[in-house]
Amino acid sequence: MLGTSISAIHTGLLSEIVRVEADVSSGFPRFSIVGLPDSAVTESRLRIRSAFRNSGLPFPQGRITVNLTPANFRKRGSTLDLAIAIAILRAASILPADDGSLAFLAELRLSGDLAPVENAVGLALRLASDRLGALFLAQSQPTPPELAQFLPSVHCARLSDVIAGVRGGPRAIARAAKVAATASTSPEAGSTFGTFDEIVGRSAEKRLLSIAAAGRHPLLMIGPPGIGKTMLATNLVHLLPDLDHRTALAAYATADAADGPPLLTRRPPLRAPHHSLTVAGMIGGGNPPHPGEVTLAHEGVLLLDELFEFQRATLDALREPLVNRAVHLSRAGRTATLPANFLLVATANPCPCGQRGYGECRCLENDVRRYWARCSGPLLDRIPLIIYLNREDYPAASKSIGPTAIELRSRIETAREILGVKTHPPAASAPSQLDAPAKALFMQLKERLLLSERVSQQILGIAHTIAALDGRHTVQRPDVEEAALLRNRGNS
Ligand SMILES: [Zn+2]
Repeated sequence: MLGTSISAIHTGLLSEIVRVEADVSSGFPRFSIVGLPDSAVTESRLRIRSAFRNSGLPFPQGRITVNLTPANFRKRGSTLDLAIAIAILRAASILPADDGSLAFLAELRLSGDLAPVENAVGLALRLASDRLGALFLAQSQPTPPELAQFLPSVHCARLSDVIAGVRGGPRAIARAAKVAATASTSPEAGSTFGTFDEIVGRSAEKRLLSIAAAGRHPLLMIGPPGIGKTMLATNLVHLLPDLDHRTALAAYATADAADGPPLLTRRPPLRAPHHSLTVAGMIGGGNPPHPGEVTLAHEGVLLLDELFEFQRATLDALREPLVNRAVHLSRAGRTATLPANFLLVATANPCPCGQRGYGECRCLENDVRRYWARCSGPLLDRIPLIIYLNREDYPAASKSIGPTAIELRSRIETAREILGVKTHPPAASAPSQLDAPAKALFMQLKERLLLSERVSQQILGIAHTIAALDGRHTVQRPDVEEAALLRNRGNS
């Protein structure tokens, strides 16, 4: 007899669905697992045998062959224990045949108790995308209640509870899942607006951050030490709209796989890696494989403080995700595509001593050139907003606080709706969206400044964002003026 079950496994980069097939046939008693299991999976034979005995279940006599499909990647850990046990129970006709609606994620203890597995949220999201009816997990497996919207989960203490649950049929499962969903606990969604609302004055910088946030335009802020560029860059994330539940859960799952369970929050992630970051740390990979900072910052902000201190190779690796909003990683003949739709914000000193254009610069021309060359031209070309911060706009007691993060965020949300793209950078606006004076100015700038196609498109994109922040669909002349000034490479 053949029995099957559905589970999933985390490969370090991706969550992948695994279908378990178990065949029980007469013959010399033997229990083997094929389909690239590692030693922990192979050891599940011992756990399953003991769990059966301690749950009062007869272990099938004869030859048991378990096949884990697809067979083209290695299965690690104890995540598949419960699914293997269920497939054997189905093969032995102790449970009804698989109708493809249930999935199982738990480790088995010798006692027959279920134990939690790692990366359960990411695995559950992967299973949810396969339109399953319910997921069986260990009682002690923490899952955020939000997960129930995508895949109802049934939490069981013991193997015998799972068996009773599966026998109970869809209605009993739905009832159990509902109870579990409301009973499970999750950390409060974080709602910190940080220090943004404490920034006095700096209206130009706040506007700049709003434009970057609304249009997802990468931003580099340049200025001498102490001008507040890191503080401003850190605050950019507070202007991004809340994530939807699915994206928030996916962000939780990615961070869980990389750093251990984080706090579940609908606020977008902020990643600020140290400049010693390697290429693998930036885009993902390594051994064991892990997601990179660009994926951990997906739908949030990637802050590179002191951009020119990063290794050139690490910065060069950013070019692909900046263009494609995803990274493609190859490993052992398989490729994984990870999301990387982040907003890049970087800071830098204008020169090695940090004072060029602001005070007395002690650097030699060659040193300044070498300093800027640490960051490749193609990367800088992909950062449309490169801004020299103004010392004059330093906070003063008389200056107003200005709009709060919440107010700006609602304007930004509206702007994103106007731009018609919630998850991608706005396409440069078509000429028809510029009114006549705006179009005339744009053509003039293009001819007079001999702008490349890339730069013209960036100016158009920024102008479109500026109009959208003002609640308009039509780009006007002042929008193009402001965009051209912002795209100006300043006093470098
Ligand atoms: Zn200098």
